[in-house]
Amino acid sequence: MKCRICKGKAEIYLPQYNLALCREHYIEFFLRRVKKAVKDFKMFSREDRILVAVSGGKDSLSLWDALHSLGYNTAGFFLDLGINGHSARSRERVEKFAEERGLPLKIEELERVFGMTLPEITKRLREPACKLCGRLKRYYMEQAAKDYDVIATGHNMDDEVAFLMGNVFNWKEEYLAHQSPVLPAEHGFSRKVKPLIYLSERETAAYAFMRGIDYYDERCPLSRGATSIFYKNIMRQMELGMMGIRFRFLKGFYSIQDRFKSEDRETPSPCKVCGYPTTAGGLCSVCRMKIRLGLLPEDLLEDSSGKG
Ligand code: AMP
Ligand code: ZN
Ligand code: ZN
Repeated sequence: MKCRICKGKAEIYLPQYNLALCREHYIEFFLRRVKKAVKDFKMFSREDRILVAVSGGKDSLSLWDALHSLGYNTAGFFLDLGINGHSARSRERVEKFAEERGLPLKIEELERVFGMTLPEITKRLREPACKLCGRLKRYYMEQAAKDYDVIATGHNMDDEVAFLMGNVFNWKEEYLAHQSPVLPAEHGFSRKVKPLIYLSERETAAYAFMRGIDYYDERCPLSRGATSIFYKNIMRQMELGMMGIRFRFLKGFYSIQDRFKSEDRETPSPCKVCGYPTTAGGLCSVCRMKIRLGLLPEDLLEDSSGKG
């Protein structure tokens, strides 16, 4: 197979576009797709300071590499969750990546800022690790973003489509109203963007490989039977028979999404302990977790009504 642009040896074939490309032109293609997403959804500008949330995996490191290559002003953020071995190995990749490129990196350790590692929290609270982890990541990402204009995460097209499928099959109207590649800065939350929305998991993995990014490729030992994997498998099956269906499903959703929006959404107010925006009434979910774990005094709960 030959590269459509330079007729050199192709390294990848993209069935969705019926396009074969060599390494150099694939990297160009990838960067163009990132640029297009940034432009289509007005994610950020040249002047913005972007905090890239990185896990050490292929998606977030490819994202950081791409934004840096495109000349954006970026810094990385990594939350060390203290998951035996897993976190240390992810962290190594992130540190190496930043060092090689001379990019600023902010690292936070859950044990230091929260007072416990994720495995300890999961064991004590007996709740699904992924749910607790998502909540803690959002919280500490938000804290880290204070000096930045926008937080960028490495969610790719497959992640977004899997999330959309879950929201459709379970008719989660509230989530359908707000699932977006751009969340504006409002009610005390930072602006959040997903610039890899036009790129599939395979395309992101190919970019990481061709750019020689040394990423961490193991699944988290705490995640068990995530439903997103189930949806991704179905989606790939569909894609085999209906080329491009994944992208049409997602694009089509964005164009009709306004129909799910409603006026009666609760406005968050600052948590009375830490100031984090919350609709739970008085205390945010992370402060509530701390109370349940004995890391904050229980009497804080007394004069705050609302759900846990
Ligand atoms: P996940 O929730 O693991 O699918 O990750 C979604 C996105 O969150 C990734 O693409 C990263 O941008 C970000 N992320 C995941 N883990 C971390 C972490 N430990 N520290 C900072 N950002 C992370
Ligand atoms: Zn070429
Ligand atoms: Zn709080």
